[in-house]
Amino acid sequence: MNSHHIYPVELLSKELKEKHLTQRAKVIWFTGLSGAGKTTLGQRLEKELFARGFLCQILDGDNIRSGINKNLGFSEDDRVENIRRVAEVAKLFLNCGIITINCFIAPTHQIREMAASIVGNQNLIDVFIDAPMSVCEDRDTKGLYRLARAGKIQQFTGVNSVFEPPVNPSIRIQTDIFTIDQCVDLLLDKIIPEISF
Ligand code: ADP
Repeated sequence: MNSHHIYPVELLSKELKEKHLTQRAKVIWFTGLSGAGKTTLGQRLEKELFARGFLCQILDGDNIRSGINKNLGFSEDDRVENIRRVAEVAKLFLNCGIITINCFIAPTHQIREMAASIVGNQNLIDVFIDAPMSVCEDRDTKGLYRLARAGKIQQFTGVNSVFEPPVNPSIRIQTDIFTIDQCVDLLLDKIIPEISF
């Protein structure tokens, strides 16, 4: 090694970066059916946390499937790979002291367990954004249920691809019962203690 240069002996630690940001980094993972409210609540949660001084990064289909995962489809294998990469990206943010809000269906126990093992159980807050299929289908915010029912989308979760509801999530939010504002308040009550010093 060239003695004129001083090379860092190690990466700055997660703990040091958390102190710098005065927050505890977590991966907040919203799972649930299409139309359950993951994106809506994820975006609201980010704004509310930002206003309270917390730095978050939303990871969702818009910024992941269009970029790092644009070579992936919706087959079983591609869904696993999609979630694996999302979890690895979240882990990078985590080690930088930044809270991620992941809005991905993550349809099976197995896929969610893989994500948990990548980011570490102690770092994960898994949130089940829960609404009955019939409510999600009535909302049909993106018109995707209609297309799936018409046979124009294959492997659409809930219609012709499995969704296994989380059995014991850290937080469960019933979006068919509570208003958006109520859901956001519930989330803030549960999450703020987890991310504060
Ligand atoms: P997802 O990201 O899970 O596919 P979206 O957030 O895109 O779902 O869509 C959820 C839809 O449901 C939005 O149109 C939203 O306005 C509506 N909605 C009604 N009540 C709620 C609630 N309590 N929480 C979240 N979304 C709700």
